[in-house]
Amino acid sequence: MLQSKLFYKTNKNRNANADSVSHDLLTRAGYIDQLMAGVYSFLPLGFRVLKNIENIIRKNMELIDGQELLLPSLHPKENWVKTGRWDTLDVLFKLPGAGDKEYALGSTHEEVIAPLAKKVIFSYKDLPLHVFQIQNKFRNELRAKSGILRTREFIMKDLYSFYTNQADFDAYYEKAAQAYINIFKECGLGKITYRTLASGGSFSKYSDEFQTLTDAGEDLIYICTKCSLAVNKEIKAETPKCTKCGNDKFEEKKAVEVGNIFKLGTKFSTPFDLKFTDRDGHDKPILMGCYGIGLGRLMGAIVEASHDERGIAWPKSVAPFLVHLLRLESNPNVKKEAQKLYTDLSRLQSNTGSSTKSGQNSNISVLYDDRDKSAGEKFAESDLMGIPLRIVISEKTLVKNSVELKERNKKESKLIKIKTLMSYLKKNV
Ligand SMILES: [Zn+2]
Repeated sequence: MLQSKLFYKTNKNRNANADSVSHDLLTRAGYIDQLMAGVYSFLPLGFRVLKNIENIIRKNMELIDGQELLLPSLHPKENWVKTGRWDTLDVLFKLPGAGDKEYALGSTHEEVIAPLAKKVIFSYKDLPLHVFQIQNKFRNELRAKSGILRTREFIMKDLYSFYTNQADFDAYYEKAAQAYINIFKECGLGKITYRTLASGGSFSKYSDEFQTLTDAGEDLIYICTKCSLAVNKEIKAETPKCTKCGNDKFEEKKAVEVGNIFKLGTKFSTPFDLKFTDRDGHDKPILMGCYGIGLGRLMGAIVEASHDERGIAWPKSVAPFLVHLLRLESNPNVKKEAQKLYTDLSRLQSNTGSSTKSGQNSNISVLYDDRDKSAGEKFAESDLMGIPLRIVISEKTLVKNSVELKERNKKESKLIKIKTLMSYLKKNV
């Protein structure tokens, strides 16, 4: 991608309206734009990050037998009345339609998936079933804040599981929890994301939140100093001792909830009469579970965890591009060599993408800063954007038939001969 053609605008000054680091950096670096409080547009850079996160999540959901589908955002009022949540869920967006009709904008999808499952599941032979979607959700928050950490419209992955018995359901729930840990690890948040015990509501003793430590977080979690079990505030109040090891010392930390998993049991099966016929011909209610991850919030949490005073430092797994190629001067020779390098790098991506035996894409995507700007301006913008590898080509480096290569999260740069660059990248990225 040529930076001269990229749809974005950076701002070197702090965003006065930003109330978190991720909000400030993502808006200033041209990843997102605020339309109104709690509602954001994702520009091409932000969209690429979102897609990378989405693919990590999708891969891990498919590994635990999730089938992807897409449910509507606009829901009939009747379904929400049936579960009692039309009146009790205060963040539900309610819309008047033509005539006397009323609708809800989905803040979650149990009211849609349960009646849909009823049309498909009849016998124990149809179970278990796991379906998921990645889709927009809406919450009528009184206070939207912290940029994309708490919004009114957001993209979520929600998976729903359907089981005949508690033991199999419990086993799947643990499998899903492990998939979540894998997802956060792949997104670079493994070390600071805790599976956190939370209250389970009326059908289960506990649910699990996945909390990422950050000062921008609105939640407080308590981490056992002995065994690292984390519990949320409600649970800490209920059980002052660690439920795993009995220790009574906890460390209090601020965190943001990036995911949650919940044993719904028969809470939604009952109102929608969602049953299956067992081996003996008896009708029984189906046990449901739901498993959510907020993608935008996850993106914000990654920036909270991975930045410095100059800007964002994306982990390679989610970065919008892997390489940021900077040409420093506009003299014809530098221009020519930079263009050649850009073509070679781009080719490296497409060639390996289609010709390797495994069919795996090498993922060498390049943003080429082909603009005639000062070196200082280019470096500052590159640091703000946070692409993991910066490759600089200039008269100075060309004298040595080299480019300068620097990793965003390291201080030192090194000179690499142009002719060895491709093999270096293949080996190191
Ligand atoms: Zn403990």
